[in-house]
Amino acid sequence: MSIQDLSIGWVITCRCNNKCGSCYAKSDVAEMSESEENIVIDKIHEAGIKYVTICGGEPLLEPDRAIRIIEKLKKKPEVRITVSTNGINLVEYANKILPLVDKISLPLDGFDGESNRINGRNKNDFDVVDNIFEFLHESEPKFNIDVTTVMTAKNADIKHFKQMADYLSDKRIGKWTVFQFIPQERGLVNEEEFYLGEDSFKKIEDNLREYVENKYDMKIDFLSMWDRSCANFLIQPNGDATSQKEARQRKRYELEDGTKRSEIKFFRFEKSFGNVINDDLEILANRFLALDYDGNVRRHAIRKKLSYGEQVSNIKEEKNANEEFKNIYEKMWRDGLY
Ligand code: SF4
Repeated sequence: MSIQDLSIGWVITCRCNNKCGSCYAKSDVAEMSESEENIVIDKIHEAGIKYVTICGGEPLLEPDRAIRIIEKLKKKPEVRITVSTNGINLVEYANKILPLVDKISLPLDGFDGESNRINGRNKNDFDVVDNIFEFLHESEPKFNIDVTTVMTAKNADIKHFKQMADYLSDKRIGKWTVFQFIPQERGLVNEEEFYLGEDSFKKIEDNLREYVENKYDMKIDFLSMWDRSCANFLIQPNGDATSQKEARQRKRYELEDGTKRSEIKFFRFEKSFGNVINDDLEILANRFLALDYDGNVRRHAIRKKLSYGEQVSNIKEEKNANEEFKNIYEKMWRDGLY
């Protein structure tokens, strides 16, 4: 993967006009100035990055900022822009935003008002998204819409997801992506209620994939917490470059009948690897690509740099190599190679 293939998520604000129970957006992060935005945009252009998602929080809570950034990014037409929005302000700013962007991504956890509330979304959220489907189909019949759904312990029921598939089947969406719940930020507060193990997620994935593929011409994708590790290079509102990571721990519990069980539990955390305003974007991209699932440097990424000094050739036994890799990595990081 090269830097040009990176897909960057630019969190332009962490603030939101909603309070979803499974939300993992950070709170209280300072927002960059317009001149700092320009630095970031220039770096994205110079690096030749083609995929940028403008997200939040709720990016359209800052419509002027969102439009300004998108307009400037689009000065290079090869940059593909997705806006990930809860939709509340979309219709109001549609005239300005839709001609500039390639795709809109909308959240939906149910097939009607009641079922959509199950993960702590607001009672009007279903109508907001439903109205946007109608609005976009009338005004922009070929517009590309993606839908994202969070699967939690509350809605992890195949009947619920089949009903969602039936509902979405005539909405002409580009792709439906189902995410495993992430216990982070507000989601962490609601972890007891929402936490869903990998096995339960996979079981519904297999069943639902078959249902959708046999019945509808609709793309569906599933991203477990683990899949999402290293998936996103995020620019935070203050310019910090971050990626979300997981660590694993075995959790033991007892069922009501006294049977003892255990399962691997994932913990989500954020790894910061520099700041886009201050640091070279290519160096940040290399750091991002070199991070493994636990936020450590990937061994293969170091091996690719075999020309970097004698140290690498001193590593004979992989099983004893952790410390050496770590030291080399630190040196390469200091020297700007990662
Ligand atoms: S999940 Fe999205 S819409 Fe909901 S509170 Fe978080 S940022 Fe806002």
